[in-house]
Amino acid sequence: MCGIISYYGKRDSVPFLINGLRRLEYRGYDSAGIALMKDGSIEAVKKAGKVDELEKKLKESPIKGSIGIAHTRWATHGEPSDINAHPHKDKTGKIFLIHNGIIENYSTIKEVLTRKGFQFKSQTDTEALVNLISDIYYADGLNFEQAVEAALNQVVGTYGIVAFCSDEPNKLVAARHGSPLVLGVGKDEYFIASDASPIVEHTRNVIYLDEGEIITINEKGHSIRSMKDDVIVNKETTEIEFSIEEIEKGEFPHFMLKEIYEQVFTIKDTMRGRINPIDGTAHLGGIEHQMSRIQNAHRIYITACGTSWHAGLIGKYLIEEYAGIPVHVEYASEFRYRKPIVDSNTVVIGISQSGETADTLAAIRKAKDFGALTVGICNVVGSSVARETDCGIYTHAGPEIGVASTKAFTSQVTVLFLLSLCFGRNKNLSSQTGKKYATALFNIGEHVKTILDGSDSILEVAKSTVKADNFLYLGRGLNFPVALEGALKLKEISYIHAEGYPAAEMKHGPIALIDEKMPVVCLAPHDKTFQKVLSNIQEVKARKGVIITVTDKRTPELEKISDYIIDVPSTHPKVFPILSSVSLQLLAYHLAVLRDCDIDQPRNLAKSVTVE
Ligand code: GLU
Repeated sequence: MCGIISYYGKRDSVPFLINGLRRLEYRGYDSAGIALMKDGSIEAVKKAGKVDELEKKLKESPIKGSIGIAHTRWATHGEPSDINAHPHKDKTGKIFLIHNGIIENYSTIKEVLTRKGFQFKSQTDTEALVNLISDIYYADGLNFEQAVEAALNQVVGTYGIVAFCSDEPNKLVAARHGSPLVLGVGKDEYFIASDASPIVEHTRNVIYLDEGEIITINEKGHSIRSMKDDVIVNKETTEIEFSIEEIEKGEFPHFMLKEIYEQVFTIKDTMRGRINPIDGTAHLGGIEHQMSRIQNAHRIYITACGTSWHAGLIGKYLIEEYAGIPVHVEYASEFRYRKPIVDSNTVVIGISQSGETADTLAAIRKAKDFGALTVGICNVVGSSVARETDCGIYTHAGPEIGVASTKAFTSQVTVLFLLSLCFGRNKNLSSQTGKKYATALFNIGEHVKTILDGSDSILEVAKSTVKADNFLYLGRGLNFPVALEGALKLKEISYIHAEGYPAAEMKHGPIALIDEKMPVVCLAPHDKTFQKVLSNIQEVKARKGVIITVTDKRTPELEKISDYIIDVPSTHPKVFPILSSVSLQLLAYHLAVLRDCDIDQPRNLAKSVTVE
């Protein structure tokens, strides 16, 4: 949430910063701004709307400079407007700051500063922080980085910030607490950003900031201090793992469509080196050393938000079946504020695409405090979830830029399949059953390709239902979470209201909504739930609902009762949820395109939710 990008070096930084903002725009896109230092003074340009609007304004009133900070906002405090856009400046106009996160005690800070004669122009929490820094800097005789640190010590909340001050012109200061920051180390130049995507085309050498660290960059180079431990820390650079191509759209009109298509190989990438179809086993190096503790756990919690929570629900079904351990799936935002039964016999699995989701991280920290073993499942290498958990499994789906998660979801589910296969084979799953399971997983990519080849027929379904205001998604067993995820995808990008329900539960309420205007997506694989789902479809038909059946085998009955059928290749029943998810992603995508929606940057949303 919110993109931070900054440059320290000798070149004109505007093109780099604008390009960087574009790369980070998926993190927030309600307004953007840039501030540059030149000849000992700082100038800023800010604009509500997308980065294009900022670029237009910069063309009308250009600014130049080499040291610069830029921000694309996802508003928490104050509407998206020119004034509320970042960077924010202090009352002297000499200190500028960009911020990702929330300053929870901003109103107290504002009150104190107002009494001292400060005035505030914006409604943001950020403006309180920049003025607090100013108050300390100009009163206490500290240097700029000391003043920033002193101000941060008074702050309650979360932040990733970058700031500079024209009274110390060749200096850039950045700090993190709760919101990610990465430092790119180039040749005689530095980059600071929310993630590595704007940095990779300039250098592959990066340092990920840990919680409570502050960086100062000046003519002598960079130094990192732990504010918590009050010491200088020496951190080695690591190499960015992905390439520029992976963060470009290429031929595709949208990142989301590109990422849907990438699933042909991303699911394979998730399994690479981890599955052996010959002997029907899976091997997960990242958790191997903790496997006995995991398998002997009394209970497992899976904690996550949004799409990752849906993956977690699939994980529950699988782990309970194969490991025989009770699994609770909890929204991280609930888990962190209640008293779950967590002790050293508990395993807490946190799932997060970015590895920076604020609530999921907080839930993991709480679980650690209670003595649980924590396991991270995330996509971004080096992210906070990866670093703060005891062990973990990367999904290896590559960078996901589309705000609505697609390939990250199927990779998370794939990881949970691998985990359950590990559990099963270590318990009583026979090698023969394991082989069938592993072979089916191994071949998913080809089946995904078949679904993608049938995209036009899904487009036809979308064309016929595009006028609907509501959709219902129904599934049983492993396909209940798929129904939830299908509905979420539709809501997120097309703004059509949609609900996912366990197919049988529908009659306890949502059935009241069904009429001839309501499309109902029914997940009907030929597994042990088939007959039951068929009965549920009959119930929908009896209320004149428009039936869209997703199935792995057409039967005369299904053909008769369905208004539309979306075909999914017939394979192992456990694999159906992954394949049907891909179909539902395409359905949501086509509906959103037909409704002329902004696919990659849906309204009000942002990727990587780093605020709670
Ligand atoms: N809380 C700050 C604001 O509303 C920062 C939001 C963000 O992370 O973009 O301006």
